[in-house]
Amino acid sequence: MSLASGRHYLAIPGPSVMPDRVLQAMHRPAPNIYTGELAEMVPTIVEDLKALARTRHHVAMYIANGHGAWEASLSNVLSRGDKVLVLGTGRFAHGWGEMAARMGADVDVIDFGKRAAIDLARVEEALRADTGHEIKAVLAVQVDTSTSVRNDIPGLRATMDAAGHPALLMVDCIACLGCDVFEMDAWGVDVMVTGSQKGLMTPPGMGFVFFNDKAEAVRETANCVSNYWDWRPRTYVKDFYQYFDGTAPTHHLYGLREALDMIGEEGLENVWERHAVLARSIWAAFEHWGQGNDSPVELNIADPALRSHAVTSVRVGAPAGTELRNWCEFQAGLTLGIGLGMAEQSDPAWHGFFRVGHMGHVNAHMVLGTVGVLEAGMKSVGISHQPGGVTAAADVIAAAA
Ligand SMILES: *Cc1c(COP(=O)(O)O)cnc(C)c1O
Repeated sequence: MSLASGRHYLAIPGPSVMPDRVLQAMHRPAPNIYTGELAEMVPTIVEDLKALARTRHHVAMYIANGHGAWEASLSNVLSRGDKVLVLGTGRFAHGWGEMAARMGADVDVIDFGKRAAIDLARVEEALRADTGHEIKAVLAVQVDTSTSVRNDIPGLRATMDAAGHPALLMVDCIACLGCDVFEMDAWGVDVMVTGSQKGLMTPPGMGFVFFNDKAEAVRETANCVSNYWDWRPRTYVKDFYQYFDGTAPTHHLYGLREALDMIGEEGLENVWERHAVLARSIWAAFEHWGQGNDSPVELNIADPALRSHAVTSVRVGAPAGTELRNWCEFQAGLTLGIGLGMAEQSDPAWHGFFRVGHMGHVNAHMVLGTVGVLEAGMKSVGISHQPGGVTAAADVIAAAA
């Protein structure tokens, strides 16, 4: 006997839950890719994406996942041998930096570990030491999806300005655009990358690179740019096919149009606030459980101000993490994320972590269901915890709604 039959909840940090409205918008025959409805719809998507990123500058769209958006962004601003400073707070900034290295950049990494945000004082020191301004770009993630830390992007901009450093500020918002507050222009971000399958609630397969005029000026002399990744034809479009340098991702576009409508109907600020309340509810449960005698339950990021509203990384000790994930999936129809990047997968310690994705199409009953299943699972697999986390989570929802 299993209690998993019924509507499954995929609570991994991407791909996220796809709304029925998005699925239905994609369920249609192939459209004409030269003129008509699709060609008229795409400029509206461009405008709404820019509004979502809070920018009046540019966005180029690619048929690519987040890794493709990473490469697209780098190829437009890097020249071989350029120095790049990578600020590592988990798996993802390192991955972006490794890509820059393979493209011929000279990559310096400051690693802040797996449980902390970027230390701005150390960044300032590194930038001030670069008196010749050899560093051409600073790479950071807003939210690292492995550790669930959220970095202070406006603080990073202020640090770069205080050091008088002209490098481009490049930010990965793949995990969190449309979940955590982000203001591209107000925060002085020069390049931002994101993807379709997390806060945007659309299948994986579209990547987006936002850039301002400062980045465009760097593009002028960059010598890594290749034909397909070039952001110019995709941005200054004369013919519709240029948006995608070939056939448009037709059905993704219909899904994305619907998702952007849903965000517009709810209002971006309300979307941010919903994510904030749901995240606080989940944290309240884990913090409560962790108060039990000898309880191994612990949030990976101790300071609530540094936690993402899109994903939560949890430590419960090995092998309990994997046992709990399996219990939730096979006994209760809830799939949780693996502890990506927290330990090598061959290391027994890898089984001590998991993640809860709460990005995009997620509401109070889904979060309370998740928390309830987790409490049942901990009891069943024998993870010591203080009972009552569900009530703690419900209290947060009740106080906010
Ligand atoms: C998901 C994610 C990526 C990778 O995106 P893919 O679509 O899997 O290539 C990169 N950075 C962050 C912060 C992410 O959350």
